[in-house]
Amino acid sequence: MLFSMGNTQNKLKSICWTVTLFLILNPVVTTVLLVLYLVFSETYTSSQIIYISLFAAVFAVLTNLSITMGYHRLFSHKSYEAHPVLQALLLFIGAGAFQGSALKWSSDHRLHHRFEDTDKDPYNIKKGFWHAHMGWMMKHETVSLPIHAPDLEKNKLVKIQNDYYIVWAVGVGYILPLLVGMALGNAFLGLMLAGGLRIFLTQQSTFLVNSLSHMHGKSTYSEEKTARDSIIVTLLTHGEGYHNFHHQFQFDYRNGIRWYHWDPTKWSIQVAYLLGLAKKLKTVNVSEILKARLSTESKKFQTTQFYEEKLLPIKNKIIESQLRFEELKTQYKQAGQDRIRSIRHEMDMLSVDIKVNMQIWRQLMKAAPQEVRIK
Ligand SMILES: [Zn+2]
Ligand SMILES: [Zn+2]
Repeated sequence: MLFSMGNTQNKLKSICWTVTLFLILNPVVTTVLLVLYLVFSETYTSSQIIYISLFAAVFAVLTNLSITMGYHRLFSHKSYEAHPVLQALLLFIGAGAFQGSALKWSSDHRLHHRFEDTDKDPYNIKKGFWHAHMGWMMKHETVSLPIHAPDLEKNKLVKIQNDYYIVWAVGVGYILPLLVGMALGNAFLGLMLAGGLRIFLTQQSTFLVNSLSHMHGKSTYSEEKTARDSIIVTLLTHGEGYHNFHHQFQFDYRNGIRWYHWDPTKWSIQVAYLLGLAKKLKTVNVSEILKARLSTESKKFQTTQFYEEKLLPIKNKIIESQLRFEELKTQYKQAGQDRIRSIRHEMDMLSVDIKVNMQIWRQLMKAAPQEVRIK
């Protein structure tokens, strides 16, 4: 009996009550108040609901982008450099997401990448969906880890956001929506829809990256770890669901690498670049990406004769051609008029070569299961 009481006390002590209560009370209080208001009050109009909902939707997109483009790809991974104006904007709106300061968020996130799927990973998926999704924020052991990001601590804007975080969070997260609601004719609806409800929804979409993206989807570039490429999460998080790629190549500013991959965060960074607000966008060489993809696709055949005789030679050809293509691309930028045409010609030939070999690769992969012979 004494033992179980001690156990309960220890469990209660291990809970981070500030975060836990906020995560529970924000959606509960918002939903109850909103429903009561909509059912019993006669002081609102349908146009107020429409305009305030539109504002809430735009503000939700901006909040989410501040997390993905700012907290994640800029501050955690330094996948590009941002002008101080853009940094300030991302930090300001990002505070309203109620996901902690950029400094703390990035420090935890770097641990997640460094120690993925181990006990040192704060949102380790091996501890289950709930832990990775929200549970980790409710325990001191995982949510109160010391901050370690010396580079970010030197950034004055990041430091200010961290030092006065609660003021910024309440100001942007609740007061700003209330004021916009007031300007649109209904302060209460502003507070509920663009404040409480938006915070809940944007938090949940971010949390899905840590939970669902480590459980469901494709292991396109590596099967070593749990991160997956998940279309559902991609659609809900402005492109963050290409998580297998992201964990393999975390310094790339893109998560969806093809132009048609749904990645509004990548497109926003590109727009910022065009506006002169972002520079030094980092990308991984296509040859590296291809190498990882082809190795992962053919992994199950790697101890077979079929792999050595058929898959490996094609794989090597593709990688070699791509490497040469990249070499020529660099030369092309510096070449004089006399060399440009011949470089262009060789690049075109290589493109065709890569396409043809990729087709052969795909056909071999389809044929492989029947032809595989164990050595
Ligand atoms: Zn992850
Ligand atoms: Zn990351």
